[in-house]
Amino acid sequence: MKFGGTSIGTASAMKRAMQIVGREKEKNIPLVVLSACSGITNRLIQIAEAAGDSRLDEAMRLSGEVREHHLELVEELINDASLRQSLKEKVDAYIGELDMLIQGVDIVGELTARSFDTFCSFGELLSTTVFSDAMREAGYDTVWKDIREVMITDDNFSAARPFEDLCEKNVQNSLRPLLEQGSIVVTQGFIGSTRDGKTTTMGRGGSDYTAALLGAWLPSDEIQIWTDVDGVMTCDPRIVPDARSIRVMTFTEAAELSYLGAKVLHPDTIAPAVKQNIPVYVLNSLCPESKGTVITNNPETLEGMSYGGLVKSIAVKKGQCIINFRSNRMLGRHGFMADIFGVFARAGVSVEMVSTSEVSVSLTVSESASLEQLLDDLRKMGEVEIEPDVATISVVGDNLRTAKGMAGRIFSAMKDVNIRMISQGASEINVGFVVEGEDVFRAVQHLHHEFFSDIESSCIFETPVNKK
Ligand code: ADP
Ligand code: ASP
Ligand code: MG
Repeated sequence: MKFGGTSIGTASAMKRAMQIVGREKEKNIPLVVLSACSGITNRLIQIAEAAGDSRLDEAMRLSGEVREHHLELVEELINDASLRQSLKEKVDAYIGELDMLIQGVDIVGELTARSFDTFCSFGELLSTTVFSDAMREAGYDTVWKDIREVMITDDNFSAARPFEDLCEKNVQNSLRPLLEQGSIVVTQGFIGSTRDGKTTTMGRGGSDYTAALLGAWLPSDEIQIWTDVDGVMTCDPRIVPDARSIRVMTFTEAAELSYLGAKVLHPDTIAPAVKQNIPVYVLNSLCPESKGTVITNNPETLEGMSYGGLVKSIAVKKGQCIINFRSNRMLGRHGFMADIFGVFARAGVSVEMVSTSEVSVSLTVSESASLEQLLDDLRKMGEVEIEPDVATISVVGDNLRTAKGMAGRIFSAMKDVNIRMISQGASEINVGFVVEGEDVFRAVQHLHHEFFSDIESSCIFETPVNKK
């Protein structure tokens, strides 16, 4: 059971999450994976940057805010005075470590990738420490576990990946026995450790991935992702308030949707579940009784839920830019594409969408990527033009494999939107295009209207509980 930041960010959210875990415990023994409380990882990143920039006062002030937030949680959640005191001491011990790190980085005057990850790790360490003591006080046999003893990763800081065989063994040796003895285990998402004990993180939103990995290594009967919306929806409800909840999706649909920008699941979450064929439930911690989404390949579950429409969901990825590359030397020459992609590979820049003709290639990359060297190298090979502040919009659905008339429907819905680039995913279950940043809302709302306005709430699409 993984709970995201908003599902444990306040004392009342934590109480709700505790009830959800308690209810599950009546049937199963849960392994609970927590994110940091909402906003805390962002705050820790600000602290890291301030420390690296020698803005010591600011870093210490923000650290004080992190401390305050968790002490308030303790105050509101724990009744017993001595437990409250000992938990406050645990919080203060972490804050003490954080402050020492701030001072160390300030003295050295440089924020390394390694210390950046250590900064980020405090959010999950603090949230799990508070949650597991609160569970214990509520009478549950609960064990807090430092996941860094289990999740052993490479040293690719901020995007670390686990050594799977080793981690699986660790899970069998240290987590499974605790669960088998009937204890609820509470541990951290997002963080890990190198073989020599340096703290790593697995990328923003990585707690979903942790939960899926642990679920697969146990293996568990199901993986539950508890978040702040009613499961996976037909679009981000922050963009389209009318978005519906999707009751069931295939693994491929969910994986594609998360790669293409739907923040509700970290992009790597689905792969471990597929490997072990474990269903993933995306559930609403604000409304635990709502059904949420089940992601599965189980034919029986999928059968009753077949859907004749074309599109299941729309994903949006903002903060992108287009690189247009053109060279007459591409015409009829082989190997040119390899040279172009070689430039991206050497610069370590990931390409998201590609569209090509005989003499030109357009590619999208994240605006946060460092592009200077890459652009210098590309300019040696041809003409380069950049279009900043664009967004990719993708429609996803298994039925797109066999669909006719799809492009017509998409592009007639986009009549008044300037489309900068178009691409059909090789998986055949997505069609994507790129629009300027300022057009995103309008484009997505048109598209959602085109594909979902005439669909009644049915066995597969539901109006979210809080909208009923
Ligand atoms: P958590 O803290 O639980 O990990 P996130 O903020 O990472 O939560 O993910 C949940 C958010 O994802 C939702 O609040 C919603 O705004 C956004 N989101 C984007 N696309 C979708 C989608 N297709 N379905 C549901 N939520 C989506
Ligand atoms: N706390 C981390 C983040 O904010 C990981 C997560 O929430 O999944 O990115
Ligand atoms: Mg998330």
